Amino acid sequence: MKYISTRGNVNEIGFIDTVLMGLATDGGLLVPEQIPHIPAEKLQSMSKLSYQELAYEIISYYVDGEIPENELKELINKSYGTFRHPEVTPVQKIKDNMYVLELFHGPTFAFKDVALQFLGNLYSYIAKKTGVTINILGATSGDTGASAIEGVRGKEGIRICILHPHGKVSRVQELQMTTVNDPTVLNLAIEGTFDDGQRIIKEIFADLEFKEKYHLRAINSINFARILAQTVYYFYAYFQVAKEQDIKNLNFSVPTGNFGDIFAGYLAKRMGLPVGKLIVATNENNILERFIKDGVYQPGEFRGTYSPSMDIQVASNFERYLYYLLDENPSAVRELMDQFKSEGKIVVGEELLRQVQVDFAAHGVRNEECLQTIKTYYADTNYLLDPHTSCGVAAYEKSSIPNEVCVTLSTAHPAKFNEAIELCNIEQTYPEQIQQLFDKPQFLEVVRADNEEIARRLKKLFSSAQ
Ligand SMILES: *Cc1c(COP(=O)(O)O)cnc(C)c1O
Repeated sequence: MKYISTRGNVNEIGFIDTVLMGLATDGGLLVPEQIPHIPAEKLQSMSKLSYQELAYEIISYYVDGEIPENELKELINKSYGTFRHPEVTPVQKIKDNMYVLELFHGPTFAFKDVALQFLGNLYSYIAKKTGVTINILGATSGDTGASAIEGVRGKEGIRICILHPHGKVSRVQELQMTTVNDPTVLNLAIEGTFDDGQRIIKEIFADLEFKEKYHLRAINSINFARILAQTVYYFYAYFQVAKEQDIKNLNFSVPTGNFGDIFAGYLAKRMGLPVGKLIVATNENNILERFIKDGVYQPGEFRGTYSPSMDIQVASNFERYLYYLLDENPSAVRELMDQFKSEGKIVVGEELLRQVQVDFAAHGVRNEECLQTIKTYYADTNYLLDPHTSCGVAAYEKSSIPNEVCVTLSTAHPAKFNEAIELCNIEQTYPEQIQQLFDKPQFLEVVRADNEEIARRLKKLFSSAQ
């Protein structure tokens, strides 16, 4: 299996180089040269596998022998052994035709653990194999940072620095990141916004000399390994629902920000999983809803919502879908991305829009609808939705298929976003692991949003012994 860039200007590389490269060097995103197709009989044989066994089957199509079988199995078992539920990502039926795929049983109670536990172990495996320490640098608005730190803490050959905007993440998110006491983990709370953090990271990565010298690696959601790990639970969910009722094509509703999670569903479909509609559920930051309805991709005004992990204007994984929409033609992708850069928007014609609407449906959920859905479901079914999952459930209800079977991806545990749950006048008890955080000391350094200052602290971390 070889990987290429959506913009066509990167020589073919293998799986491990794809993981290490992250963003393609020509500015595009890395994709498999050819998506493997799983025949129906093979799918049938996979339906009884455990989560870990299934993950091994799916992931090996893409690793394609670059990691020996026993080592890949061990890596997968280690990654999902940290989950609190024996099924890793269990499916719950909450009412007729409506299922929730709980992706929040990992260490930080959000779905990002599914990908970052795997990526953390993968980086550690690569560091061990090559004897080179990997230094990870990332910016977060909350969930990714906590999850990435949990994914790599204490692992040999790997150090991590996460920037978060000081005082601007949820209380639980801050505690999850900063209560980790480990010399290989550095939390920098910057006096500024998430965008400041993102900009600083971009500039530091652009300093190629610094990047090479310290073997700097990224953890953001454009890494193909993250998408790959997320593809597994679409298969898993399908098999669980198919055990309970006769389904032909299964619909999924996916709370979406960067288009990573929903792209994993699209990939599963292209691999041969019988997926019906993929519903893109957005909050009031609805660039994706507007694209799928009207064919115009254009950032709007930023809105603060109760589902902050979806408060995103430019969906960094969207280019991967464009590549397939444009029949895997890199020059057509380049043309549209250039158009986006110069005009601030992408417009697709009627024929392409029809294809988009075959692949996806989309619904934006307003702030009040998000809270109302949490209240209604809690009253009617006694199931407490987090505000991101609530957008997913509400989008399904607004869709044209509210009587067909649908699985909504539950991307976070409600305890992570109690700020919204309180507004619904619902009192929740925190899981023990979250409750404990409130008593732990915090380890963080507050710094100015200044590149030199941050580079200085990075050098100190990266020069420290393991
Ligand atoms: C990151 C995140 C999302 C959005 O996922 P994308 O892959 O960016 O679309 C949704 N919900 C939660 C809780 C998240 O942390």
